[in-house]
Amino acid sequence: MSVRPYAGKSGGTAEINGLRPRWDKAFFMHKGRKRGKMTELLYQNDASLREFSATVSEVVENNGVVLDRTAFYPGGGGQPADLGVLVAGDESWQVTKVKRVNGQPVHYLDRRPPEAGTAVSGHIDWQRRYQLMRTHTAMHILCGVIWRDYGASVTGGNMDPLKGRMDFEFETMHQDLVAAIEQAVNHEVEAARPVVVNILPREEAFQIPDLIRTKINLLPEDIAEVRTVELVGLDLQADGGTHVRNTSEVGPIRITDYKSKGKINKRIYLELNE
Ligand SMILES: [Zn+2]
Repeated sequence: MSVRPYAGKSGGTAEINGLRPRWDKAFFMHKGRKRGKMTELLYQNDASLREFSATVSEVVENNGVVLDRTAFYPGGGGQPADLGVLVAGDESWQVTKVKRVNGQPVHYLDRRPPEAGTAVSGHIDWQRRYQLMRTHTAMHILCGVIWRDYGASVTGGNMDPLKGRMDFEFETMHQDLVAAIEQAVNHEVEAARPVVVNILPREEAFQIPDLIRTKINLLPEDIAEVRTVELVGLDLQADGGTHVRNTSEVGPIRITDYKSKGKINKRIYLELNE
């Protein structure tokens, strides 16, 4: 497997592959006293979940609600948060923003939320989310290919639906390589590689050389389990985001541009078809 070594620059944080700017506790499962109070993150085990039922566990400021379980991705690692709708009985609320507050996903609604204890159903804006899952997976393909073919590591990245950009320590990048990179990433789409998610006990994750190189040792001590995402044969990351199940779902990838951000740092842009 080809996982680029840690190459982040911001002191003290562990940038794995640019898809995740820092170790975020909410990406991992907690054991011990906090368990049971924390929101169950349904998207971590099943990224294909579009609807779910839940109970409001807390109402917070600015029309925010915490749920006992959620399929809404709260954002992180370069992947924007989900949007959608919350329904209780014959009332519905737009979910206008989701973000983590004290590690818990808070769903911000368009008006006064239902009270704590209310049974609700959540409905993800699926078109947008699925586009983000394809884009996120395309970014793994790009960083896997760039590392495998050029030995260049990722330092950052960001995405919108169907558009992404990634920064690499890639001194030899130049215009002539764009076509070769585009061909190589599309080859990995056509190779239809399975995308496998695992949740490993901390000790087990610590024994995977690829993950050790990505500074897993910076993982906070109360994190008991690590979620990994593998494009089988191409890329392995500790990662909390949502991805498609097979690289073939990404569809054709266009490398639309690249920019020099200095002698060594290069930014590469990609786009997908609708
Ligand atoms: Zn990812």
